[in-house]
Amino acid sequence: MYSIAIHGGAGAVPRHTLSAERETHYRDGLAAALDLGYAVLEKGGSSLDAVTAAVRTLEENPLFNAGRGAALTQDGAAELDAAIMEGRQQRAGAVAAVRHVRNPIELARRVMEKSRHVLLVGSGAEEFALEEGLELVPNTWFRTEERRAQLESERSGRPVSDLVPSSQGTVGAVALDAAGDLAAATSTGGMTNKRQGRVGDSPIVGAGTYAKNGVCAVSATGHGEYFIRAVAAHHICAAVEYRGLTLREAVYDLLRKRLPELGGKGGVIAIDRGGGIVTEFSTEGMFRGARDSSGLRKIDIY
Ligand code: ASP
Repeated sequence: MYSIAIHGGAGAVPRHTLSAERETHYRDGLAAALDLGYAVLEKGGSSLDAVTAAVRTLEENPLFNAGRGAALTQDGAAELDAAIMEGRQQRAGAVAAVRHVRNPIELARRVMEKSRHVLLVGSGAEEFALEEGLELVPNTWFRTEERRAQLESERSGRPVSDLVPSSQGTVGAVALDAAGDLAAATSTGGMTNKRQGRVGDSPIVGAGTYAKNGVCAVSATGHGEYFIRAVAAHHICAAVEYRGLTLREAVYDLLRKRLPELGGKGGVIAIDRGGGIVTEFSTEGMFRGARDSSGLRKIDIY
């Protein structure tokens, strides 16, 4: 059994404002990432390679809030966070507040595989990217007209989604490969109008991203401050491991109990040790996709 799930952010676009044409673009973007990740698993590749490929594809797609198309900071720049974790040895790598790395998920993976560290931020992370020969781009490369308009609307007090302040489109992937290894990856531009230097849950191991073989792999999306305080991804895996909840029960426990207690909302994608996929959210929608070796393949928004 092998399986993969991806998300393109919770919050979605309010249903009444999403045109059929735009919905098709979102679905196509999700399908491309899902199928690319699945192809890795199908060829006997690792869950780590599958989630890297899926997230990288979404980073390249300007519709999503990661890599190109990232949400913009107060000062109008893109500042990116990403993390990756594998479940066998529970190695992890993450980067935060980088402004020039074209694919932050690749840098997170290098941090995991080529450095002695787990989390590198800002200029130190970018120095490491240079040393590793990763592609660096001017910050303008990430900025889209749409994100500029969102920043303007946030500044004028009209948030664009049901997440306040708005984000939309963080991306993530979780996978189980044929060898039984789990992996999770998340990448984001964070939240529109965030302060410079603000770091969300995505690159924080246990908050936005977590994987442990025999238990589960989780990638989260939503208002990051709450996900950090709830240690959301770990909360789910701990509920499975120590309280004996099913993955679905554990996800509900987070989204319907723990996060509301704190005042937060969002969504998660998760896979259990048997490859069972759960995708749930407490927002209006969550861009998401799931595919497994038993023939499941679906893309959903609401
Ligand atoms: N969790 C992300 C953050 O707070 C945003 C999102 O998922 O929409 O940085």
